[in-house]
Amino acid sequence: MRQLIYPMKEQYEEFLIDESKFTGFADSISFPESEEEIQEVLRVLKNENVPVTIQGGKTGITGAAVPEGGHVMNLSHMDKVKSSVLLEDGTGRITVEPGINRIDLDKEIAAAFRRNPQFWPPDPTETSATVGGIAATGAQGISRLLYGSSRKYIESVRLVDVDGHVITAGREEKLTLPSGRVIDWIDAVLGKEGITGVISELTLKLLPKPESVWGIAFFFCKTAEAGRFVDMLRQDLPECENAAIAAVEYIDREAIGQIEKHKNVMTKIKELPDVGEGIEGMVYIELHGVEEEIEMLAESLMESAMVCGSNPDEAWAVSGEADVERLHAFRHGAAETANLYIEEARRNDARITKLGTDMAVSDMPFSEVLANVKEDLEDVGLRGCVFGHAMENHLHVNILPDDYDDYVKGISLIRKWVSEVREHHGQIVLEHGIGKLKRRILDGLLPEQHVKLCGELKAELDAGNVWNRGNITGGKADRV
Ligand SMILES: Cc1cc2nc3c(=O)[nH]c(=O)nc-3n(C[C@H](O)[C@H](O)[C@H](O)COP(=O)(O)OP(=O)(O)OC[C@H]3O[C@@H](n4cnc5c(N)ncnc54)[C@H](O)[C@@H]3O)c2cc1C
Repeated sequence: MRQLIYPMKEQYEEFLIDESKFTGFADSISFPESEEEIQEVLRVLKNENVPVTIQGGKTGITGAAVPEGGHVMNLSHMDKVKSSVLLEDGTGRITVEPGINRIDLDKEIAAAFRRNPQFWPPDPTETSATVGGIAATGAQGISRLLYGSSRKYIESVRLVDVDGHVITAGREEKLTLPSGRVIDWIDAVLGKEGITGVISELTLKLLPKPESVWGIAFFFCKTAEAGRFVDMLRQDLPECENAAIAAVEYIDREAIGQIEKHKNVMTKIKELPDVGEGIEGMVYIELHGVEEEIEMLAESLMESAMVCGSNPDEAWAVSGEADVERLHAFRHGAAETANLYIEEARRNDARITKLGTDMAVSDMPFSEVLANVKEDLEDVGLRGCVFGHAMENHLHVNILPDDYDDYVKGISLIRKWVSEVREHHGQIVLEHGIGKLKRRILDGLLPEQHVKLCGELKAELDAGNVWNRGNITGGKADRV
């Protein structure tokens, strides 16, 4: 068998960090190319009781794939399609290795289902995210509004456990925990950030591609106007039988500014016009379905946006996959450039990491949530870009610190917001996970039920705390 485990040298430095910019350390690394190679690596490491950190594309934003000692098992070389099939109900299934990334998955699906085009709905917009990473973090993305959670589109997974045994984890198979609680096996894996084992294969549920896709970006001169527009949609979302609103995303002025700063080097969006300086907020809407009915929805949206002060002549409205992808990429740019900002800030102070929220309260108008966030940022004198899934009040506020003092202030502000969201019975971890970074930043404020379940799963499936030490439940790894 070929050499599988390599000592951690400078050439592997990029595997000690993820997109949160949280950094770690490790002694060795492997890039298995098959389930058998995963098992072989585990066999060797087990003799020495080495902790293992699992990695996909390292696009995670909570440090969950960052090692704190031990071994890094990077799955990006396991990127093949195993099989695909079209079912009688018109939906497809594709079985893939975990390291296939979002962009290659799309290409493989297009090739496999040429006559009956299909797609996989979970879309965290970052195309280098792997399917294994999406499953392990429970990443969702912008069209969760229409299609629901990523869990719905993962039928089963193969999981290699700490002893190298392979378990097929689906919805039929049940797992009884020491507390007596019974869960679907798949829920011991999805969203558990790799603390229960390595996903070595996934069977994904696909849907027929919508006949047509449109993207519309509405611009507002005042934050409150954008807020009011979303409030109107939250109260009464236009509906049609054969078309639907798939995403409603908010992007604020600060995020637009960050995108425009980097626009020239972002291939997909560099041809888009500049956003006028007087614009304080943008609402990006994606529509999927039958062309004529999309047109009806679009008209209704235009009217509502106009009532709220948006000039329809200034809206960007496009149809067709290629053009919609450019607007989609603009929205993605909000997250990407916030991460770039942190990368730059770290050049002055390496203690700085990403500080972003993943919270939602359902019982407040969006305009109020937005106004509160903006006011708080101003009160404490911090810059932050605000974007996210507006219909669900699910905002990602990214603090943009000038220096370490700002960073510390940012942590306090995020803790304050999280406390408030908890008081409103909202959610504080929705799609990014907890990893190692949020476990530290949100110490004492993490969702108890979820952490408790993860603790039980750890005790049952990985009592030696081999997998992804430090994620969610803690247990800091020692240097070995
Ligand atoms: C610019 C940008 C925008 C983003 N936007 C969104 C968004 O809109 N919505 C959203 O939800 N997320 C978003 N993300 C977050 C990110 O893309 C996801 O968290 C992603 O799913 C992680 O996939 P990955 O392959 O990079 O995993 P990694 O970062 O490598 O790992 C993430 C976690 O998954 C575990 N893992 C990876 N592979 C396996 C495996 N085979 N078996 C077991 N565990 C595994 C790791 O151990 C770790 O705990 C964004 C990220 C970036 C950089």
